[in-house]
Amino acid sequence: MSTAQLLDGKALANSIQTELTQQVQDLQIRKGRAPGLAVLMVGDNPASAAYVRNKERACANVGIASFGRHFPATATQAELEQAIAALNEDERVDGILVQLPLPDHLDAVALLNQIAPDKDADGLHPVNLGRLVRGEPGLRSCTPAGVMRLLQAYDVHPKGQHAVVIGRSILVGKPQALMLLEADATVTIAHSRTPDLGAIARAADILVVAVGCPALITAAMVKPGAIVVDVGMNRVTDASGKARLVGDVDFASVQSIAKLITPVPGGVGPMTVAMLLQNTVQSYIER
Ligand code: NAD
Repeated sequence: MSTAQLLDGKALANSIQTELTQQVQDLQIRKGRAPGLAVLMVGDNPASAAYVRNKERACANVGIASFGRHFPATATQAELEQAIAALNEDERVDGILVQLPLPDHLDAVALLNQIAPDKDADGLHPVNLGRLVRGEPGLRSCTPAGVMRLLQAYDVHPKGQHAVVIGRSILVGKPQALMLLEADATVTIAHSRTPDLGAIARAADILVVAVGCPALITAAMVKPGAIVVDVGMNRVTDASGKARLVGDVDFASVQSIAKLITPVPGGVGPMTVAMLLQNTVQSYIER
């Protein structure tokens, strides 16, 4: 039985960071300042705190200044609106992102919509999503953009291929499907109300899974030789009581069927961070 080659997001993200570091060094001389990213976090969700630390560490590595703020879980909508308004005006800041999820009393959509579209480092503002729908240049959502970059690096050409995206969130599934469409794939979107998920998944040349359900996709649901991208990130506790991160794909069985497959961790996750840095540098160049 053959084993799939890994789509190594960690290695690619590292090389993108190296390129961005050089680009930032060169541009700083002309611009007279470093690029800046502000990550807003509310409350003490440990997973969110780890993601924010990770993003700020990556910023420091490439020479992007961090203007992040950490609010208590009791922060009000008005306080966050004021913070975003100030960052929208701050000349040193090229990217702003609100770490999700937010506590229930806050209106996340209203806050995301308040971010200036040219500082929308996560690419989730309706203006940037609209540009994606229209096929116009703009800041692209980081996770699906990271998937596209990973496919490109491994010479996977979506043109004419049948791509199946499982999941239809604004964060991943929908923009992912649009990006694959933009790359001339024939795209199917499956979701929680899709009957016979297995038959649809098995028809995919390129299968992107963004659900949040460990081992949802088994070998029987994958076409031999398919490209499998696992966006899922699920914290599970194994029999020995040890916590670990797994995707939505049953990696052990699917790797013997697929041609290429992303590991979790080390696949899409690092690419998401790399695209966040790239978006920030893109805004810095264009502003
Ligand atoms: P979400 O909960 O907003 O959306 C999940 C989607 O999965 C929904 O559209 C739903 O219709 C679909 N779904 C649910 N159950 C299903 C089922 N049984 N069969 C088929 N479809 C089903 O989640 P999200 O924000 O899109 O994130 C999805 C996963 O990706 C999560 O595990 C999340 O942690 C992970 N994620 C990873 C990264 C990364 O950088 N690697 C970034 C964002 C999200």
